[in-house]
Amino acid sequence: MRDGDRDVLIQRTAEALVQTRRAVALTGAGVSIESGIPPFRGPGGLWETMDPMEVAHIDVFRRDPEKVWKLLIEGMQAVLSVARPNAGHTGLARLEQWGYLRSVITQNVDGLHQAAGSRDVIEFHGTFAWQRCQDCESRCATGKVDLSRIPPRCACGGIYRPDCVFFGEMIPPQHLARAQRLMARCDVLLVVGTSATVHPAAMIPLLAKDAGARVIEINPEPTPLTGRVSDYLIQGGAGAVLNDILGCVEELRGLGGHIDTPR
Ligand code: NAD
Ligand code: ZN
Repeated sequence: MRDGDRDVLIQRTAEALVQTRRAVALTGAGVSIESGIPPFRGPGGLWETMDPMEVAHIDVFRRDPEKVWKLLIEGMQAVLSVARPNAGHTGLARLEQWGYLRSVITQNVDGLHQAAGSRDVIEFHGTFAWQRCQDCESRCATGKVDLSRIPPRCACGGIYRPDCVFFGEMIPPQHLARAQRLMARCDVLLVVGTSATVHPAAMIPLLAKDAGARVIEINPEPTPLTGRVSDYLIQGGAGAVLNDILGCVEELRGLGGHIDTPR
């Protein structure tokens, strides 16, 4: 992609956002890379050193929670506890505040969209901010869990697990239903920083496409959606691309073409 092409696509995206006002974003691990959180796949990804089925499958957790806490959860907690939103997260939050973006459906468990100010966030794979007791289902903020013994335990004696979706588990039905409803009505889907390989989240762009939405990818690399499902790919990091899109949206707003209406 040449620089000129990139500018044209940025401009086209900004116009689509301003005109339609019913955009939704689907985000993945890529949007948080610039916040220092490694993705699962690709260079520097967690799966270069670990087998997902050995550490992130619910059967492994049930069989050996100590191993999963030591290999995966403790490390993730250390990284997530210091991560801060980047320009990708704040860009999406700003688009929502300006009334151009309805919701963010995220596959991430890091809470950075909310930290950036996004209000309507569907945490498709749950959240790492909370732990849930395997036995009594009571929840405790991750930062408050007593980690002096691993695996940590609830007052009832049950083992805590992150309130997120492990491989082998169902997506919470309310999230699935909400995502389906949003896709049936959205005009523009921004697909930001996801390799679109984890199912059923990978189906979301297909649902949008079927409903007639424009599907726009923001990613440094092509994905399985590129050239098949997405209308186009804006190649680059989430922070820089969203920054540029915001700049164009701001110009269009300045031209007075559209007046913000509270939702
Ligand atoms: P993935 O790891 O499969 O793919 C990451 C994608 O991000 C790739 O397509 C890569 O090209 C792209 N990318 C790299 N740098 C980028 C940048 N600067 N800006 C934008 N995109 C960039 O991620 P996935 O598709 O989300 O699937 C992984 C699963 O792992 C998700 O379901 C998620 O739940 C979980 N996960 C979450 C986190 C988190 O919460 N931050 C981190 C790792 C994994
Ligand atoms: Zn309990």
